[in-house]
Amino acid sequence: MSMLKVAIVGSGPAGCYVAERLGRKAKGAVEIDVFDRLPTPFGLVRAGVAPDHQTTKAAARVMAKAMEKPEVRFFGNVEIGRDLTLDALRAAYDAVVLAVGAPEDRGLDIPGADLPGVVGSGAFTRWINDHPDAADRGGDLAQARRAIVIGAGNVAIDAARLLAKTAAEVEDSDLSPDVASALQGAPLEEIAIVGRRGAAHLKFTPTELLELGDLAEASLRIDPADAEQDPEATDNPQGYAALKELAGRPVEAKRLTLSLRFNLQPEECIAGADGRVASVRFRRTRSEGDRTVATNETVELPADLVIACIGYRTRTPDGVAADGGRLANEEGRIAPGLYVVGWAKRGPSGTIGVNRAEAHAVADRLLDETPADDRPGRAAVAERLETAGAESVDWSGWSRIDAAETARAEPGRVRRKFADRGEMIAAARGA
Ligand code: NAP
Repeated sequence: MSMLKVAIVGSGPAGCYVAERLGRKAKGAVEIDVFDRLPTPFGLVRAGVAPDHQTTKAAARVMAKAMEKPEVRFFGNVEIGRDLTLDALRAAYDAVVLAVGAPEDRGLDIPGADLPGVVGSGAFTRWINDHPDAADRGGDLAQARRAIVIGAGNVAIDAARLLAKTAAEVEDSDLSPDVASALQGAPLEEIAIVGRRGAAHLKFTPTELLELGDLAEASLRIDPADAEQDPEATDNPQGYAALKELAGRPVEAKRLTLSLRFNLQPEECIAGADGRVASVRFRRTRSEGDRTVATNETVELPADLVIACIGYRTRTPDGVAADGGRLANEEGRIAPGLYVVGWAKRGPSGTIGVNRAEAHAVADRLLDETPADDRPGRAAVAERLETAGAESVDWSGWSRIDAAETARAEPGRVRRKFADRGEMIAAARGA
């Protein structure tokens, strides 16, 4: 019997859950190679989930279990499109699954969106999480008294919460000392999370929203009118109920104010004399049934830091068609032998659990549709990478990075990540 050979591109939740399902259902009859452009696995669980949400980051343990199965091999630090072409991968394996996520920030697309001090949530989150491609954002925070976080989703909450938390509140996180001191050293007085539609259309989940009500040094302010909308109008009853509960609590005076504002559509980021962002002009909107319509009123809010948490787009590999911000696909299939899962498949929505169920469904489809065809698979690819001088990092290399990061954690922290590829590779080699 010949082995089914599958390559998975991306070791975030979606990719690991495909490996998990294939390993379980085709045990002994499948060879699974998981490629990641970073030397480290776990995608957004490592570089997207907020550093102070270690319970969520624990999803990595389930993902690691799937990756440690004998039929799975990890090829970290191998970028498809740079070290190997997608065509070469497709020729070597019976099936290829793209689990490449949505790493590009959706553009704010208004005048002034490129001003210094305006940053996308992907760029911000990668910096917070020590992603090796992240630019340092410390300079953006050093002068920031007023921050505007655009978007009414959980990523906006993550950004605002981390800006507001004290040193004591980020103990047990894996925030690096540099990032933590930039966050806590910022002279912030006000943070506003701003949604373009009415409060009934917020996308926050209740647990994340309620956490904003319990911050040590940030008092949460909600306009009572936003908590009195028709409960029938909401598409997120639990999130809206959490907003109502928070709006009913007394407002305590604390070091900084964290406000939730709605019905404000961003129109322009406006520069100050120093060329950095100084304010954002919004168009006030109002709800008419399910529609949100613009009014004649504009509102200008001062801001020296603007974080746009408005979603993401995938990167499109050569030879694959895009569909909006994701890859064109029909229920996970792009072409015979080529599949897609996760945010690259459906766009940037859904929790880690949503990815698991969906990745399993695509894995099942792949198994139903794909015969084993005596492809060269792992051996040929490993040889090709070696000839090209690519420094791939296998699972034992990642385990050494993991151990080194844990060993160098400051007291109270769970790990101190390497933010530099060279350091990661040195640690993978045991240096
Ligand atoms: P999201 O939940 O889709 O929220 C995006 C927000 O941006 C929405 O309020 C959207 O408004 C707004 N928006 C989009 N384009 C805009 C524009 N041009 N101008 C102004 N506002 C704009 O996305 P997300 O916050 O990036 O989160 C992505 C996914 O990850 C979600 O499923 C989220 O729940 C999940 N996540 C979960 C956690 C957690 O469980 N702790 C943490 C982080 C992320 P409209 O609604 O009007 O489009």
